[in-house]
Amino acid sequence: MSYQLTSEVKQFLQELPKCEHHLHLEGTLEPELLFKLAKRNNIEFPQWFPKDIESCNVRYSQFKDLQDFLDHYYIGMSVLITEEDFYDLAIAYFEKAHKDNCHHSEVFFDPQGHLERGIDVKHVVEGFNRACKDANTKFGTTNKLIMCLLRHLPPKDCLDTVKLTAPFFEQGIVHGLGLDSSEVPNHPELFTESYEYLQNKYPHVGFTAHAGEEGDHTYVSKSLDHLNVTRIDHGINSHQNDELMERLAKEEILLSICPLSNVKLQVVEHVGQLPIDKFFEKNIPFSINSDDPAYFGGYILDNYLEVHRHFGFSVEDWGKIAINGIKGSWCDDARKDHLQKQVLDIVKKFQHIEIV
Ligand SMILES: [Zn+2]
Repeated sequence: MSYQLTSEVKQFLQELPKCEHHLHLEGTLEPELLFKLAKRNNIEFPQWFPKDIESCNVRYSQFKDLQDFLDHYYIGMSVLITEEDFYDLAIAYFEKAHKDNCHHSEVFFDPQGHLERGIDVKHVVEGFNRACKDANTKFGTTNKLIMCLLRHLPPKDCLDTVKLTAPFFEQGIVHGLGLDSSEVPNHPELFTESYEYLQNKYPHVGFTAHAGEEGDHTYVSKSLDHLNVTRIDHGINSHQNDELMERLAKEEILLSICPLSNVKLQVVEHVGQLPIDKFFEKNIPFSINSDDPAYFGGYILDNYLEVHRHFGFSVEDWGKIAINGIKGSWCDDARKDHLQKQVLDIVKKFQHIEIV
């Protein structure tokens, strides 16, 4: 089944206020900025890496699998050295998100990927934090930082990172904790200690984890049980278990779904194979996100358009999806009220359009 992206549908989805909850800042490094920062920091790439922006773009469109992507992703990371580099990376994303009418973003970063290269985590966090503030001033968007732990590293290394960065959580500069990188076989319960450490100290922090992307539905249940998360990143394999589906609806656990990423990493062949309609029917809140947009061929609006092409949600249903995204966000109630009103205005403006 395929639905038309008429000019009215495109206009509606462009104007619909959005929240993004699943975005890795390091995954927004476009080839143009990559080569600029490599030059600024005198970084040389290995022989096998593309030599210019154009060939880099071509190569990024042809990843064979997760590992192939990660090999390029970690080379990308190597050009990020100074506070200014991290600022430039984040502000470029916030500007793009703003153009797509993404009004609130909660964005991931991976400190361990920088610490192991000898980068001071202060430069990482301060660069990103300055970009969050400037984006608010320049674009009126609100933004929160979520620190992710790399689950392919030893749990002890993760706990050390949490302890090292605890002051940023205390000061409210970093708002959430997440868990990313290779899901299987790195089970959620390995990281309980890291989550508990922050949960005991700072109850205001938000908790999430990648689960149910390559791992089966048990990774989702275990993240809820052992890590006490209130959100699940991806979570698409939750549909394998009815009991879990009921629980997600009842506890209003937001799933941050990344449709184009799932296709690029060959989790599914096309977006229509994702259980997005099932989640909607079962009243499981979800948001639509871009994951690593520089590598996966699209930012948030591209993902909305692709979901529409396959599922053809009505204007009212899209309004409900947008409002669920707002409710599941970690901004304050006043901001949520403001965003919800904006969604209702846009739904009203476009309520006449036909979905064909
Ligand atoms: Zn992700």
